[in-house]
Amino acid sequence: MDIRLKPIGVVHSCFKEKFGIPRQPGLVPDARADLELLPPFNRQEAVRGIEAFSHLWIIFLFHAAAREDWKPTVRPPRLGGNRRIGVFASRSMFRPNPVGMSAVALESVDCSADAVRLKLKGIDILDGTPVLDIKPYLPYADAIAGAAGGFAPDAPPTSLEVEFSPEACRQCRERQQAGHRDLKPLITQILRTDPRPAYHARVSSQRTFGMKLLDVDVQWRVAGNKITVEALVPKPNQSTQNPD
Ligand code: SAH
Repeated sequence: MDIRLKPIGVVHSCFKEKFGIPRQPGLVPDARADLELLPPFNRQEAVRGIEAFSHLWIIFLFHAAAREDWKPTVRPPRLGGNRRIGVFASRSMFRPNPVGMSAVALESVDCSADAVRLKLKGIDILDGTPVLDIKPYLPYADAIAGAAGGFAPDAPPTSLEVEFSPEACRQCRERQQAGHRDLKPLITQILRTDPRPAYHARVSSQRTFGMKLLDVDVQWRVAGNKITVEALVPKPNQSTQNPD
């Protein structure tokens, strides 16, 4: 069988680097992306009826995962990064075929001239990710009451509090006055998932962490259970598209 897969779309996401992306969809409800259909699939008929679904499955390529030889076991961050589990018992991006799947909320559909854009929320997908397929989420078949969640039975618990320095508050306000959405809820939801690698979460560290989000570099520190967003540093010459 000779099957060649061709991306049908590309994700324009708020996440500009891997660090800080939630580990599954829905954990950061305000994380937005536009999924743009690529020619020749950018036809309005191809999404006819899709707006009647509240959620979609996005099947995509982990295009930014370092390609190594595949290994039969991986170390999920959920197990502290030091216990091994079978690759097919995991949602790791290091798999023989680097295919990811995320069930995400569909906010709206934007069709204009030859552009078809799906506005998505609650994503865990990097900016620029090639999309292989889109399928509607079917609650009667896909939501399985009483299903066992293995080593990840529930969303990871968090006891972290997020606060903003006066400087970061001022920067959020200025950005909002320039016509952008309020960044505080998005940043708060992301940081409460504690993106630090397991090692940093274990040792108390005074270092500043940073992640590229939309058109800014978010910088924060952690002390005990408190995260302080120190500043949002604007990125010069931002040329990539951003979801709004
Ligand atoms: N829900 C998907 C993805 C889970 S892994 C699935 O279960 O298949 C989620 C992680 O994938 C994110 O934390 C992010 O770091 C990483 N990721 C997202 N998009 C990626 C891409 N295009 N290339 C490499 N890694 C990506």
